[in-house]
Amino acid sequence: MRLRAPAAAGINTDGDRNAEIVARDLGVVWHPCTQMKDHEWMPLVPIRRGRGVWLEDFAGRRYLDAISSWWVNLFGHANPRINAALVAQLGELEHVLLAGFSHEPVVRLSERLRELAPAGLTRCFYADNGSSAIEVALKMSFHYWLNRGRPGKQRFVTLSNSYHGETLGALAVGNVELYKSTYAPLLMETITVPSPDCFEREAGESWEAHTRRKFVYMADTLERHAHEICAVVVEPLVQCAGQMRMYHPVYLELLRAACDRHEIHLIADEIAVGFGRTGTLFACEQADVSPDFLCLSKGLTGGYLPLSVVMTREAVYEAFYDDYLKLSAFLHSHSYTGNPLGCTAALATLDIFAAEDVIGSNRERARLMAAAAAPLADHPHVAEIRQHGMILAIEMVRDKAARTPYAWQERRGLAIYRHALEHGVLLRPLGNVVYFMPPYVIEPQEIDLMARVAAEGIEIATCA
Ligand SMILES: *Cc1c(COP(=O)(O)O)cnc(C)c1O
Repeated sequence: MRLRAPAAAGINTDGDRNAEIVARDLGVVWHPCTQMKDHEWMPLVPIRRGRGVWLEDFAGRRYLDAISSWWVNLFGHANPRINAALVAQLGELEHVLLAGFSHEPVVRLSERLRELAPAGLTRCFYADNGSSAIEVALKMSFHYWLNRGRPGKQRFVTLSNSYHGETLGALAVGNVELYKSTYAPLLMETITVPSPDCFEREAGESWEAHTRRKFVYMADTLERHAHEICAVVVEPLVQCAGQMRMYHPVYLELLRAACDRHEIHLIADEIAVGFGRTGTLFACEQADVSPDFLCLSKGLTGGYLPLSVVMTREAVYEAFYDDYLKLSAFLHSHSYTGNPLGCTAALATLDIFAAEDVIGSNRERARLMAAAAAPLADHPHVAEIRQHGMILAIEMVRDKAARTPYAWQERRGLAIYRHALEHGVLLRPLGNVVYFMPPYVIEPQEIDLMARVAAEGIEIATCA
């Protein structure tokens, strides 16, 4: 028998340790994006450690992380290469301010990103989360036009159903009502254009034809408001928080041309879709376009540490470059801007992309995901299975022919979440949409498990 220290006398099993963490947590922690009262009946899941695609609690119970812990993880939990890089960096420098000071990880990361990003994005401005990157891009775009003698350009154009984060500026340019409407009185007004969301295409219409048809609204808006618009903000190819709605790359191509024509910036929010999620390193590559601002976070550090970056063009940088007394500088900062540990995790992540054909081997993973989900297409309550690379979404509906959604009050996705947890898979449906967005180290049999549990969950959630 193992001896226990007296301090642990009250804790008999690892299962008790789970219960203890949960009880203490609910006494002090206020969880994100959560109605805390739900935890009166919905279990909170304590996690002790992670390995690869698996998360494990204190009793050794395992969960397959099918959503990459909110879309951040790329190469598995406790990835040996990223761990080793961080341990080495910890011995050197944990943090230093980036104003007036520099360090090697931030220089190397900026050089690497410049090589990898779409052409012309030569400058890296750092922040520490996705929403802050959006704030930076919005302020920089507005300020650019101001510095260039165009103070009338003050407005932003956004797509319906878009999501760009939770801080007030990011929330204002987003359009998911669930997160936004409460705070409407606090938000700047934006111009919202109908999304090219291909779930809304006509029967028999191709993704491309639908996407082109929807661009007419954008073309018209830019034409009429060009004089007062700073920038258009889009999530390239997939509106992730907006229930994984997707569109054809041609939209980005048309948008780039229209922005050029009307002297409007294009802000590409690749916070979720960047780093290979859609099948190319950056989603913009699929339209062969380069934005004026590229916002990156989430997968940037492989899912390890909070870091974000806004990449922009030399012409934008130059519009701020002048004598101090002109007061044209971008006086924006965050305490942890360019944190050396975050940059080191990002460099180790890029090293994995450089050493292995990640994009190539993900093509096979994406094919397996499609094959594993395919039988669900015939389900009477599945309206659509859609996919862009490593993001696959299954849309449940009440009426398949009419595409009538289930009422949100029924919380059908939650039934799937609970079923999946009981069967060792972390799925977190967005409303009535179940999706897979796993780390890039998922194995074929794990893809099958994820799809099987999702199918069972859909069956249970739609039977009543
Ligand atoms: C997650 C997300 C954000 C916000 O990033 P945070 O780090 O959560 O602030 C912005 N845009 C998109 C597209 C996202 O998915």
